[in-house]
Amino acid sequence: NRPPRLHRDFVMTRPCSLQNAPLRIMQWNILAQALGEGKDSFVRCPMEALNWSERKYLILEEILTYRPDVLCLQEVDHYFDTFQPVLASLGYQSSFCPKPCSPCLDVHNNNGPDGCALFFNRRRFQLLHTTHLRLSAMMLKTNQVAIVATLRCRLTGRVFCVAVTHLKARSGWEAFRSAQGAHLLQQLRDITARSYPEMDQENRTRVGDGEEGIPLVVCGDFNAEPSEEVYRRFMTSPLGLDSAYKCLSEDGTTEPPYTSWKIRPSGESCSTLDYIWYSERAFQVDAVLRIPSEEQIGPDRLPSYNYPSDHLSLVCDLSFSQQPHRLM
Ligand code: NDP
Ligand code: CA
Repeated sequence: NRPPRLHRDFVMTRPCSLQNAPLRIMQWNILAQALGEGKDSFVRCPMEALNWSERKYLILEEILTYRPDVLCLQEVDHYFDTFQPVLASLGYQSSFCPKPCSPCLDVHNNNGPDGCALFFNRRRFQLLHTTHLRLSAMMLKTNQVAIVATLRCRLTGRVFCVAVTHLKARSGWEAFRSAQGAHLLQQLRDITARSYPEMDQENRTRVGDGEEGIPLVVCGDFNAEPSEEVYRRFMTSPLGLDSAYKCLSEDGTTEPPYTSWKIRPSGESCSTLDYIWYSERAFQVDAVLRIPSEEQIGPDRLPSYNYPSDHLSLVCDLSFSQQPHRLM
């Protein structure tokens, strides 16, 4: 008697190339179990829809429906007892970075801190390096984190970096988010420009004006609409990043109308907060998973019996541009 899962199609954004299998990237704030039950007060979501014993299967089902090569999650508070072991048995290697002072810890019967988690298909990629970052804002340490991993494709030898983050929530914190974004971008510049001994010239790409480095994908819940400064910072950074979900719009330059939609006692919140950024000179977007319609989401919004988080998953297929951009 449950409504069916939300059905979502992939939109092909360019003719499919058969030669190089694209990288499928998934970005998702899965809603921490402790926050969903103890802090969020989603007024139109029945408490029973938040039972972990069932909700975990909806989250896993969503992931396994799309089978991403790289999976970036936020608000993970069941890493050690659920996602790490289950996804390891399905071929994923992973890393977890808890928030230093997770709000989950305030909730009675919590399951530990929430944090960011990064999973990748270990048959396809070899892990070269992982960094856990605690984000700063104006030189001060904050409660937000990021994971940056450098991966090498076992088949093609191509190397790229992937990062996952979850910036500070709530209105009034726009400048703080922007500062966190600036810190993350600086760290990413350092990491992607670093020369790994394993790396040959083929793998370095001229990423922006006068900059070179390895290709980069950054996934996150930025807690920021596209009108915010942190979005502009990412859009115009020397790393040469673009946002994959703009490909869904008619003109190719507009973000989707929402990636999160919920009703709290304070009111309804329908906003675009989540992004998949990619080095635009290194990757092309082949396909993007459509955002469900308002009708599909339903009048009670998210989460619900048929969708386990207040944030939608974002999934895209990226392929390396045919030739790496030569350095000279
Ligand atoms: P954030 O403000 O970034 O938010 C934490 C979580 O709350 C996010 O996952 C966010 O979800 C969710 N959230 C956003 N808006 C609301 C809302 N209106 N109602 C309920 N939940 C919401 O938190 P911080 O990491 O900065 O931590 C702040 C909390 O942590 C404090 O409330 C306190 O309980 C605790 N804490 C933090 C300390 C610190 O050092 N920062 C020290 C001591 C305690 P989403 O991203 O999906 O919007
Ligand atoms: Ca949340």
